[in-house]
Amino acid sequence: MVAVFLMTAMIVPMAGCSTKAAGDGGEKCGECGSHDVVPIVYGLPGPELIEQAEAGEVVLGGCVVEDGSPVWHCNGCGYEWGRFGDTHMDI
Ligand SMILES: [Zn+2]
Repeated sequence: MVAVFLMTAMIVPMAGCSTKAAGDGGEKCGECGSHDVVPIVYGLPGPELIEQAEAGEVVLGGCVVEDGSPVWHCNGCGYEWGRFGDTHMDI
């Protein structure tokens, strides 16, 4: 019983961790040069992901990933690039 309580206490602070994609901070828009670039997340979004999307931290690409779907979205000009599959993303 005590072990269960300890594990619960350890998990709670981690629940707020964001699911930032790899390459955070290093991506740059090839069109306008803006660093205001966010990853496009595919799949069925959870409540946290929806909040992030509303905050402009990610872009939701929908449930279906098509061949050649872009992985990066520029908030500056709306340009999207990258190819899903070329960049490893944990989703
Ligand atoms: Zn741009």
